[in-house]
Amino acid sequence: MSGCPDCRPFRPDGILGYLGRKPTQWRENKNRPFERGKTTILFGGLTPLRDSLVMAALRSLGENFAALPQPDLKAFQTGKAYGNRGQCNPTYFTVGNLVNHLVRLRDEEGIPTERILKEYCFVTAGGCGPCRFGMYVTEYRKALRDAGFEGFRVFEFDHTGSIFQRSGENEGFLFSPRFFLTLLRAIVVGDILTLRGFQMRPYETEKGSVDEALRRCRAVAAEALESGGALLPALCRCRKILDGVRLDGTKRRPRVMVIGEFWAAMTEGEGNYRLFRFLEEEGCEVMTQPVTARLLVNIWEAKHEAAKRSHLPGEGPFLDPEPLKRYLLNRLGRFGLKAQWSLYAAALGLKGYRLPDVDRLARLAAPWYTLDATGGEGHMEVGHFIECAEKGCADLVISVKPFGCMPSSAVSDGIQSLVTARYPNLPFLAVETSGEGAVNFYSRIQMVLFKIKT
Ligand code: SF4
Repeated sequence: MSGCPDCRPFRPDGILGYLGRKPTQWRENKNRPFERGKTTILFGGLTPLRDSLVMAALRSLGENFAALPQPDLKAFQTGKAYGNRGQCNPTYFTVGNLVNHLVRLRDEEGIPTERILKEYCFVTAGGCGPCRFGMYVTEYRKALRDAGFEGFRVFEFDHTGSIFQRSGENEGFLFSPRFFLTLLRAIVVGDILTLRGFQMRPYETEKGSVDEALRRCRAVAAEALESGGALLPALCRCRKILDGVRLDGTKRRPRVMVIGEFWAAMTEGEGNYRLFRFLEEEGCEVMTQPVTARLLVNIWEAKHEAAKRSHLPGEGPFLDPEPLKRYLLNRLGRFGLKAQWSLYAAALGLKGYRLPDVDRLARLAAPWYTLDATGGEGHMEVGHFIECAEKGCADLVISVKPFGCMPSSAVSDGIQSLVTARYPNLPFLAVETSGEGAVNFYSRIQMVLFKIKT
């Protein structure tokens, strides 16, 4: 590391410094300032449908946002080649995906590296962990440097912060409330369209008709989001398109609920071996968790944290206005998100799905797993399973846990072994995504599907 330009010599204070020892210390370079109107802002990591809607919505802010492609196996291999050892699977996929995209810009589109550094940047959600999520931005910067893109700008907002956070302010990229509200709007629409797709696809009478309808809906919604026009009429048009698809509801399909680590249980690419398509090809109906549900969990975590802190000396609501402000923001955020969901879900004709009651999930999980352990899905995975077992909402629950994910291993392999033993009527399968074990992954799922179908 001593030759690395990112590592300035670190001179310790005290006696070691006087003895002339110069150990090196990792220093993260600050981003060069962002230039409005002259930069292409890359982002990605959700699903193709959601990413394209987010791209359209954010472009309405007047900047050139561009979505990265869905991470594939090559992205995973690049992430492993340039990333630190021992990272979790989603880190390798997402970091490698950005590196591969920049390499494509340079080698296939012939854009010189200097121009890429000057005219492109990347925006992502970050946080302080407690798992490897806290290391994502550093991983991006390290891999980019080693792949020949040193100084490429990566801007980060705090996924647990409110829409009023001021991340990026000093670097010229201000994440404003308008940015977050626009982002949320697109995510909610993307979630609802995705859920409708999962509900309908197993019952289509003509193969591919639901995907074709979703493609048309995506174009309609994206146009409304990008132009800043009225969204509700556009969503009603989407509903008509979807309602026009012929379905055969006479066959009952096994319902498989997919839970687990957020990214691995949401991505539709190689990051989970295209699990959803695989399950549908096996004749199942997939039930997934929308990104909006994860946002409700973030709000719940902020509330839980604030409640714990309110007992600390000097932090009561009457001594310090900050907790009260956080509490009100929290209530407002939850109310706003749920209201927006209900409105869009009605316009798009989503039936048979309700956003999870995260307070109830926490109460269900509390006897089994501490609510204070955040990171990954935490206690929510336990809550989802118990609720599903009690309500009988699925025939099988699959938990996707990425290779190298500490929170998932603790919950899916540890706690869930105990919890599932108390609910033997609902089959549960925890599967690991290592990026390289597709055959093993598929065969384990096929074995349990055989069990629930017979
Ligand atoms: S929850 Fe697991 S997979 Fe996700 S970022 Fe944290 S360590 Fe990685």
